[in-house]
Amino acid sequence: MAKILAITNQKGGVGKTTTSVNLGASLASLGKKVLLVDIDPQGNTTSGIGINKADVQYCIYDVIINDIHPNDATVDTNIPNLKIIPATIQLAGAEIELVPTISREVRLKKSLNLLRHLYDYILIDCPPSLGILTVNSLTAADSVIIPIQCEYYALEGLSQLLNTVRLVQKHLNTSLQIEGVLLTMFDARTNLGIQVIEEVKKYFQQKVYETVIPRNVRLGEAPSHGQSIITYDPRSKGAEVYLELAKEVISHEQAVR
Ligand code: ADP
Ligand code: MG
Repeated sequence: MAKILAITNQKGGVGKTTTSVNLGASLASLGKKVLLVDIDPQGNTTSGIGINKADVQYCIYDVIINDIHPNDATVDTNIPNLKIIPATIQLAGAEIELVPTISREVRLKKSLNLLRHLYDYILIDCPPSLGILTVNSLTAADSVIIPIQCEYYALEGLSQLLNTVRLVQKHLNTSLQIEGVLLTMFDARTNLGIQVIEEVKKYFQQKVYETVIPRNVRLGEAPSHGQSIITYDPRSKGAEVYLELAKEVISHEQAVR
């Protein structure tokens, strides 16, 4: 049965999509069966893994709004073991269209439960907001991964995010956990990055992954080639650290079992 992880932070540009694509590709390259679910209307995970949006027949919008079976919206990527339910700009309307619908918070959960048995991991790339799409993701997930950029104001907005997590735990998904906090875009040349790491560790303690993602030019380039770092430049530092993170995610699971 798949573990469902929501990669979430309502701040944009903190590394959610980079982590979804590259953690997904790394888990797949370690032999895990992985499904990426792109639930951000910008569809950056979709294009970043090489899916041409013009070719998409059904996207996540059709799954949560039109009750299309999630298997019918699932497409292969160029990495064996890695599939994706893509997002297109159509999804931008979903926040509004979901408002009057019955059981609007549990639509994604119901859909993903139909294919949980097919995968080891399902990674949901959340949009940069705490709206109904993120609430759907938190309701569907077993746990959340929170990427935090090693920058000024790193912790800003986190209390809102944690409050949303608590509300979902209370009303929609009592077993939702915080899987881990991931420090991203670390620059070893600045003291600031080190200060942010200390601050985040004080706040989240053992929840912080040991793997820290550095700024890496190849990680920034890969999406424009429609590739994960694992295929774009397997020898880069970026590939190395995301593989390390994948191993940490797997070992955490084994420790829990
Ligand atoms: P989010 O999904 O949270 O908005 P992204 O993953 O899209 O954030 O990252 C924002 C931008 O930063 C993108 O252009 C991405 O390619 C780049 N980026 C993300 N992580 C790194 C990294 N570790 N090193 C270099 N560039 C990065
Ligand atoms: Mg994104």
